[in-house]
Amino acid sequence: MEISPTTRAVRAGIEADTAHASVVPPIYLSTNYAFAGIDGKRAFDYSRSGNPTRAILAGALADLEGGAGAVVTASGMGAVATCLHAFVPAGATVVVPHDCYGGSWRLFDALARKGQFDLRICDLTGPDAAARVAAAAPDLVWIETPSNPLLRLTDIKAISDAAHASGGLVVVDNTFCSPILQRPLALGADVVVHSTTKYLNGHSDVIGGAVVASTPELAEQVDWWSNSLGVTGGALDSYLTLRGLRTLELRMAKHVANASAIADAVAGHPALVAVHYPGLASHPDHALAAVQQSGPGGIVTLDLRGGTDGVRAFLDGLTCFSLAESLGGVESLVAHPASMTHVAMPPAVQDAAGITAGMLRLSVGIEDAADLVADLVRGLDRTARSLSG
Ligand SMILES: *Cc1c(COP(=O)(O)O)cnc(C)c1O
Repeated sequence: MEISPTTRAVRAGIEADTAHASVVPPIYLSTNYAFAGIDGKRAFDYSRSGNPTRAILAGALADLEGGAGAVVTASGMGAVATCLHAFVPAGATVVVPHDCYGGSWRLFDALARKGQFDLRICDLTGPDAAARVAAAAPDLVWIETPSNPLLRLTDIKAISDAAHASGGLVVVDNTFCSPILQRPLALGADVVVHSTTKYLNGHSDVIGGAVVASTPELAEQVDWWSNSLGVTGGALDSYLTLRGLRTLELRMAKHVANASAIADAVAGHPALVAVHYPGLASHPDHALAAVQQSGPGGIVTLDLRGGTDGVRAFLDGLTCFSLAESLGGVESLVAHPASMTHVAMPPAVQDAAGITAGMLRLSVGIEDAADLVADLVRGLDRTARSLSG
């Protein structure tokens, strides 16, 4: 009988305890494991290299992404760093999107400045993106789709084909979609990275990451590097993330339903320059989203009139959204990319990435949709009044 990946995620590690048949797997906090004898190394010896609780989470993530193996790291940036060490030889050409996560951009930029590789910042959206990648003949292409905060899409299959033609490797940061909405390996990518801090854990109480590899050889490399760098995740974090993962499919469905309701309700409001959401027919990548993703996602980006002043009026009185970084939790958040998530990008780079002073990124939670819409419309009305007043 074929069991679906989401069923397997719900059941990962359930009743696998060999000591007492506990239904939920135990948390192995021990740093080390006794050898059976001088030649008797057991499955685990030291928890940086391997931990039973972390191994259950890694197995579930590899399963959900359709990969050959995975490592769980202490943060999403730990996963990014592991990939850059494992897959980027000295002097390599690395193509990254011009509008990627600010923390990833900071690391790419800093390592390139140290001369570790040749960094090509590239627009990976639109029909000409594959030709741009082919022309660069990269050793590695970094994809983040939908992008942050403009939610532009990259055609994973087209870019993977272009990169593979010159022997390049393709890594997709799948944090914004989770494997419920997008499976990059099935579209031709070689490696998937996650900030599990976001949707996979989903409860804003763990910092974590993961790298999922499409082949056993790539999985072996990420395993070796994550252990050598010392970025593997802790047992308690792994346990909490595994608990979050069990409700991932339910949560994603509600995130998507609420985000869609919000995008529809606020589009056209006079206080807005634009609403960016792949589920809207007006979005430039609406058609690609419909084929590449199984839902438009839980993030909606608003571009308010009046720049920072318009933003202030909007935020002053908001009750259902917390002004905070991060995303993907059950609670709704609003972030100001220019001063928060993307502050590491110099103004010129922010400009090139399309980030404006009036831009707000909503991480839409799983609260009642009508409450969220009413709260946002009241905020937009305040912005409109502040502009006319
Ligand atoms: C948050 C995030 C990261 C970094 O993850 P941390 O867990 O904060 O280290 C990387 N990529 C994307 C798309 C993110 O949203």
